[in-house]
Amino acid sequence: MPQITALATPESPQELELCTLYTSAEPCCMCAGAVYWTGIGRVVYALSEHALLGLTGDHPENPTFSLPCREVFAKGQRKVSVLGPMLEGEAAEPHKGFWS
Ligand SMILES: [Zn+2]
Repeated sequence: MPQITALATPESPQELELCTLYTSAEPCCMCAGAVYWTGIGRVVYALSEHALLGLTGDHPENPTFSLPCREVFAKGQRKVSVLGPMLEGEAAEPHKGFWS
């Protein structure tokens, strides 16, 4: 469940392309679409969607996709750079025991 906590208002689309979205979990396909369509140029995430799926299982409140954001971005016409997963073990800690 990525949380966007702050976003400055960019002056131009070119400025957004220079922006990085930092998130605790990999953007799902819906959020990856939002990143793509808003023009953000780079995403850095901690917990992968695959690892999140392992933590949530089939929990009805979070039927997690198994679709890396890189695959979503690869289908677009604009490049979005992706760095992640990073510090995945630490990012998984808050989820442990929550989804059971
Ligand atoms: Zn999402």
